[in-house]
Amino acid sequence: MTIQSDPKAITQFSTMQALLAGLYDGVFNLREVTGFGTIGLGCGHALEGEVILLNGKCYNALPDGKLVRMQPDDQVPFAEIARFDPDVRFSVDQAIGKDGLVKLITSRVRSANLFIALRVVGQFDFVKIRRVRRQNKPYKPFIDAVAVQEEETIEACSGTLVGFWAPQVYQGVTVAGLHVHFIDSDKQRGGHVIDLAMKHGEVAMESFNHFDIRLPSSEGFRKADLENPDFDAHIRSAEG
Ligand SMILES: [Zn+2]
Repeated sequence: MTIQSDPKAITQFSTMQALLAGLYDGVFNLREVTGFGTIGLGCGHALEGEVILLNGKCYNALPDGKLVRMQPDDQVPFAEIARFDPDVRFSVDQAIGKDGLVKLITSRVRSANLFIALRVVGQFDFVKIRRVRRQNKPYKPFIDAVAVQEEETIEACSGTLVGFWAPQVYQGVTVAGLHVHFIDSDKQRGGHVIDLAMKHGEVAMESFNHFDIRLPSSEGFRKADLENPDFDAHIRSAEG
């Protein structure tokens, strides 16, 4: 097999372990991050808000409920981005929940070993989202930071889910399973999806053999303890 340079990759900036360890300072410039694709997700500096990249435009769903366009000079502590060129598209005509959506997505890829980027434009009975508040130094661990997150259930809405599905073995490096953020069709509200019920929708997705990680060059990252046996439980609790 010949391995060549590959523009077709999911690129992740920092890791879930780093977030769990409290590395919330924005260390990646958004201008640089968005050069790696057109769809994705992340979180804001100091963990403030839930970042959504859709069709090359970057938004932050702030904890007070406002959705704002981000600026190229904004810094983010974590982001996951894909050069999205979906090769699988299908319609969902029946009502399904989050688990049903995961089953549909993974069955279409026919592998539990690849990374998947996806975009789902749909009509929803509800989308339950969360938005993390801005953290102050000294930063609390992630599990404590999200304990006071803002949660909202948006009922009877249309909008887009953007994000990824990752195999279980990468839990900690990224979020294993489904990790999607929501933005409504009016670009007024959004957040990290905790749960959902979709009436119908259009799924576009693409599987990736190439997952690229950019680690922070910060002093904080170099010195962080990233081996915590509780991290798996923390991710399941915080990101589920
Ligand atoms: Zn998220």
